[in-house]
Amino acid sequence: MNLYDVAQLVREFLEKDKFPKTCGSCGKVYYSLTQYFDETEHVGKPCSLEADHGHPLQNLGKTYTLSNCTCGSTLCLTSKGMPGGKFIRFMGWSVKESIVRGVALSDVFLEIREEMERQLEENRKPTQVDQEQAVNS
Ligand SMILES: [Zn+2]
Repeated sequence: MNLYDVAQLVREFLEKDKFPKTCGSCGKVYYSLTQYFDETEHVGKPCSLEADHGHPLQNLGKTYTLSNCTCGSTLCLTSKGMPGGKFIRFMGWSVKESIVRGVALSDVFLEIREEMERQLEENRKPTQVDQEQAVNS
């Protein structure tokens, strides 16, 4: 496992399990993780409740990252529902990284989120406009 693998694991789970996602306040629908990261604003670093209350691996499903919707409401993406095996790989790697490198767990999560954004950018399919421009040029 490296940063790329972990980010891919988390990204695939979020894309499959959490979207489309609707803002409870304004009703805006985010159809994909790409759109979500594009159009919301991150609030702080991703966190793990377990990291503050006992051992991270004892209690599954409470890692989360907050973002502000375009309406200003705060939206939450969590690891809730992630299959146990995947969660243990994700969390095990993150905890190990934080210990080995002497950084906070939230800093490791931040790197994973940034790597996810990089991967989404890489996978971004050409838009309609791009395709038209390609045809016209
Ligand atoms: Zn909203």
